[in-house]
Amino acid sequence: MQIAESKILDYDIAIVGGGVVGTTFACALKDSGFRVALIEAEVSSLAVSRAQAYSISLLSSRIFEGLNIWQQISPQVETYKNVRLSDSDYPTAVQFAPCDIGTETLGYVAEHRVLITALQDLLQTCSNVDRFCPAKVIKTEHQSSDVVLDVLLNGEVQQIRSRLVVAADGARSPLRQQAGIKTLGWQYWQACVVATLKLDAPHNNTAYEWFWKTGPSGILPLPGNRCRIVWTAPRAEAEALLALDDRAFIEAFQARYGSKFGTPEIEGQRYLFPIQLMHSRKYVLPQFALIGDAAHSCHPLGGQGINMGIRDAAALAQVLQTAKKRGENIASLRVLKRYERWRQWENLLILSITDILNRTFSNQIVPIVQLRRLSLWILRTLQPLRTIVFRIMSGLTGRTPQLAQR
Ligand SMILES: Cc1cc2nc3c(=O)[nH]c(=O)nc-3n(C[C@H](O)[C@H](O)[C@H](O)COP(=O)(O)OP(=O)(O)OC[C@H]3O[C@@H](n4cnc5c(N)ncnc54)[C@H](O)[C@@H]3O)c2cc1C
Repeated sequence: MQIAESKILDYDIAIVGGGVVGTTFACALKDSGFRVALIEAEVSSLAVSRAQAYSISLLSSRIFEGLNIWQQISPQVETYKNVRLSDSDYPTAVQFAPCDIGTETLGYVAEHRVLITALQDLLQTCSNVDRFCPAKVIKTEHQSSDVVLDVLLNGEVQQIRSRLVVAADGARSPLRQQAGIKTLGWQYWQACVVATLKLDAPHNNTAYEWFWKTGPSGILPLPGNRCRIVWTAPRAEAEALLALDDRAFIEAFQARYGSKFGTPEIEGQRYLFPIQLMHSRKYVLPQFALIGDAAHSCHPLGGQGINMGIRDAAALAQVLQTAKKRGENIASLRVLKRYERWRQWENLLILSITDILNRTFSNQIVPIVQLRRLSLWILRTLQPLRTIVFRIMSGLTGRTPQLAQR
């Protein structure tokens, strides 16, 4: 491969991966005075058109408010004002309402294209951020005071030199692997089938988490009286669900939920994604940090993945800007460890909660069924407990990034 004749480009921070998390991090550095390179391998049109939708927590929405993009995002998202937890067809459901946490709503559901478009629009106004896309990092070389990245751009290798490299390159994170950072975790026996449904009955701004013995299913409200179903099932069953034609899929959906959602129609394509629990043993090394799925990935139950990543982005941006003001070396382990200490335990707590819930609810051992039904009854009865649980799952209990306090 030819090395581009142009000279090596110098930055303070190179972000590898321009998904929602990497782009949020770049945006959070907009007034920092750092020279930032954001490098994304996928062509822009593909990156924007990913058919994903995320549950966006209140804290994530406040981070977007702090970036001044929530006014662009909010008209295109749906709010959920109720969350209902049900244990298969057991009649006692737990219902969370805004009064449990003293807010007007409990969260939002946003499509990928809405978030990434607003973030990319903001980036265009950030004179300190250069976005390279499509551009793929193929090699990293750590030197004494910086890192040199070989970036495949327009068929040539462009070298980028940076004091700090931040990997936001997804769950498989090639950069994490090259850095030799070990992870803990496992693949689940389940996989997830995702579909968007157009409803002919109102969704009533309610998000459902239904625990079935084969795995939990989330149903999230989307604008235009649509909803997103995130259907977890053992792998073979999930593959069989994906292989059904649209009509048979709707029949399977109605066999579970009856006429509660009317007779929905499928919009777009269904797809399947594997589920894993993965946690990096380290989030940082000298000159190197991990954020988002590169650092952790979890069961989709509770829609936590993207929200943990958005909080990582806001936290790391704050740590680096504070270090700059104090005249510290932003690439030093001493500075980067502050970010790791802030985020690692909080993320591990969420990973553990989603794992325990999945294991407890996806089985039929009688004492466990009785215990979980008792727990649901307690949760239903004790409002303070509902408040604590919902605040943890919305990220409202941990340390709040300054970006979310503006
Ligand atoms: C198939 C699939 C479907 C999903 N659907 C949902 C869903 O519907 N709802 C939900 O809440 N969660 C979903 N998830 C999980 C969710 O997508 C992740 O939690 C979230 O995308 C993590 O964001 P991220 O920015 O950290 O990583 P990613 O979104 O994975 O972004 C990583 C980016 O890094 C880029 N990259 C990788 N290597 C390089 C390199 N060497 N050089 C340059 N760029 C590079 C990639 O092109 C990519 O754009 C899904 C996951 C998968 C795999």
